[in-house]
Amino acid sequence: MKKLLIAIALILIFVQSSVAGQPEFDAYFTSGCLRVDLYHTGFKDIEYFSIDEIIKEPYWGGNHSALIDTMNLGIYIFRVFDLKTNSLIFSRGYCSVFGEWITTDEAIEGAIGTFHESLIMPFPKRPVQIRIDRRDRENIFANVFDLVVAPDDYHITTESRYDYFKTTTLIKNGPPSRKVDIVILGDGYCGNEMHKLRKDAQRLIGVLFSVEPFKSRRNDFNVRLIQSVSAQSGVDNPRESDYRNNLLGLSFNTFNIDRYMVSTANKVIRDVAAKVPYDQVILLANEEKYGGGGIFNLYSAAIADNEYSKYIFVHEFGHAFGGLADEYYSSEVTYNDMYPRGVEPWEPNITALLDKDNIKWGSLIGGNVPIPTPDDSTYAGVTGCFEGAGYSAEGLFRSSRDCIMFSKSIEKGFCPACRRALTRMINFRTKQ
Ligand SMILES: [Zn+2]
Repeated sequence: MKKLLIAIALILIFVQSSVAGQPEFDAYFTSGCLRVDLYHTGFKDIEYFSIDEIIKEPYWGGNHSALIDTMNLGIYIFRVFDLKTNSLIFSRGYCSVFGEWITTDEAIEGAIGTFHESLIMPFPKRPVQIRIDRRDRENIFANVFDLVVAPDDYHITTESRYDYFKTTTLIKNGPPSRKVDIVILGDGYCGNEMHKLRKDAQRLIGVLFSVEPFKSRRNDFNVRLIQSVSAQSGVDNPRESDYRNNLLGLSFNTFNIDRYMVSTANKVIRDVAAKVPYDQVILLANEEKYGGGGIFNLYSAAIADNEYSKYIFVHEFGHAFGGLADEYYSSEVTYNDMYPRGVEPWEPNITALLDKDNIKWGSLIGGNVPIPTPDDSTYAGVTGCFEGAGYSAEGLFRSSRDCIMFSKSIEKGFCPACRRALTRMINFRTKQ
């Protein structure tokens, strides 16, 4: 009897601790997704939001046991409060195209830009307040937008816009609430190129799951492909004045960086993706020219037919899924003063700190490894703190000499800091 009581007590402790701090899904949410579409307007110092449209979609692909975001990643975070009880019931950290825009020369000089973005959450049962906060240069959050949404508001649209696209399941392992659900959307594939889209998606997803930690966690993922049809093949290439009528709006030369290929057509992307439950969006471009991009909790984009396609597909997914920073520092600097000196970056794979107790991956560093760790062959394969990361040769550090976020190859895999961050994210999206 005593043993039984102890067993029951242990089970209770386990159940309590596993949901500690997390609201109960059924108390606040029902099936479906609430999508708030916003225009985000401004420049370096000032930003405004205005509402485009509020939508109820059929699916929310997230983990019902992980409503409050415990990862603390991203430049922005939105929090959702139940108005009746004044309790926090949902939050997500994220980055956006606007967040990158404000680091460009144009925005710093005062040019105003407008970008479309969406907040995605499970559909609430009762009225909610949605609050967006943004980190400042010192990493301090400040409120930038508030909105109240009543779920019975008749302005909330329920139309589905791209229902006619076919969907293919590439990997199926279980219910969306217990799996990381990836959706791949094809861009620049015409109606007669759907066979190529299916082959390209299968090939590159195979590459992703050949790399750790995805390789050993493959059973925690579902992957679906939406066979989205473009009117023309390929994507926009502004430097050649070559503009294609591609459905999802992918374009090279975003922010005047030729290899940076992302889309500002968020509305279409979300409308197409709404056909299936998803946690993570991948845009696959029917293109040979080198390019791609990945924005945390928004999407990753990669080209299908370049000799570096495997690397780009995995590297950009690392940005979008794990919130990983670029670890390289030798190529052209893409952003103005991206990481201010002395401020610890929020990304999990780079640090400005040199004391072992505070380095994000400090527990992975062996006792006899010098910090900073000399960048020579003696320390190849060793976890340490190597200077040079995040577009900066000095003052920022990475965990390993090489990594998919450092050099253009997937052969050496992700470094220990990246693997740990990606594993944490897989756990957050799947564990009870
Ligand atoms: Zn890394």
